[in-house]
Amino acid sequence: MKPRMDKWDRWVCVICEYVYNPCVGDPTHGVESGTSFKDLPKNWVCPGCGADKEFARNVMNLILMTKHDGNADDINLTLDSRLIADIDLAILGKPAAEFDKYEQAIRKEYAHLPEDLYARERIRLLRDFLKRGIYQTIFFISRYDLKARENLERAIQRLRSKQ
Ligand SMILES: [Zn+2]
Repeated sequence: MKPRMDKWDRWVCVICEYVYNPCVGDPTHGVESGTSFKDLPKNWVCPGCGADKEFARNVMNLILMTKHDGNADDINLTLDSRLIADIDLAILGKPAAEFDKYEQAIRKEYAHLPEDLYARERIRLLRDFLKRGIYQTIFFISRYDLKARENLERAIQRLRSKQ
């Protein structure tokens, strides 16, 4: 994932990866060099894909939400983005057999990691979910949260024996 602004204050479009460089400006839209990204006109659109700033920011937030690391821009979280994040985690609250199959599939994805290292990293991630809360919408919390916590606790116990 590219940062929204890099250390040179360049903006990277999350959709098409176009780079807005303030040193260059945007000649195609008559933006002079030296114009910082935040000073671009309101109606400015990305020369690469045509997305406006608001749209690009919303896409960025949706992508951050599915990373579940708590870095999404809280102020702009819409119900849609919270739902998308919850749907992405629905599997955690499914019946035990289904969840266990999912856990096995994840382990296969990381087959290159030794057992103890995998167990440690996975436990850290699952504990983090338990601590921060798994779901964000009432719909998912009321239907999936209890089962998800059960599943995660069970997975943690199982992983512990492999550390
Ligand atoms: Zn773009």
